[in-house]
Amino acid sequence: MIKGEIYYTNSTHLSVSAPVLAFDRAAREGRFHPFIGSNAVTHLWLGDHRPTVEKLADFIIRVFHETRNHQIILSPEFTNCSACGTTSDGLYGNCPSCGSPSVEGIARITQYFSRIAGWNKGKLAELKDRNRQASFFS
Ligand SMILES: [Zn+2]
Repeated sequence: MIKGEIYYTNSTHLSVSAPVLAFDRAAREGRFHPFIGSNAVTHLWLGDHRPTVEKLADFIIRVFHETRNHQIILSPEFTNCSACGTTSDGLYGNCPSCGSPSVEGIARITQYFSRIAGWNKGKLAELKDRNRQASFFS
C-alpha cells in the first residue's frame, strides 16, 4: 500500500473487493436495507461488461423478488480518448481504438460519474480493489 491509499467501507456495504457475485452482494447487503430508511444502496461495478437487456432485466427482477434489497446501482466504466474522440467501455491506459495514451478514465464514485484523474489516493485505491463481477450476468 502506498501512503494515502486508505479508504473505508461505509453503510451496509461489503468490502469492494469481497469475492462475491453480484446477486450475493445484493442479497447480503440487502438484509440491512429495511433498517436504513430510504438511502441504503448496493453498488455493482460493471467495468467493461455490458449485459444484454434480457439478462439485466432478469437480474433486477430476481434481486427485488428474492432479496430485501431496496436499491442497486449498476456502474459501468469508460475511457475517453482526446486523440480520436472515442469513448470505450472499461478503463484503459491507452485508447483501444487508436492506441493513444491521451486518455482519461470515467467512473462512478460516491454516487457520481467523474474523471478519475481528479480522484484522491484513497478513491483510486478503492477503484483498483473493486470486484467488477464481470461474469455475474452470464
Ligand atoms: Zn483514440
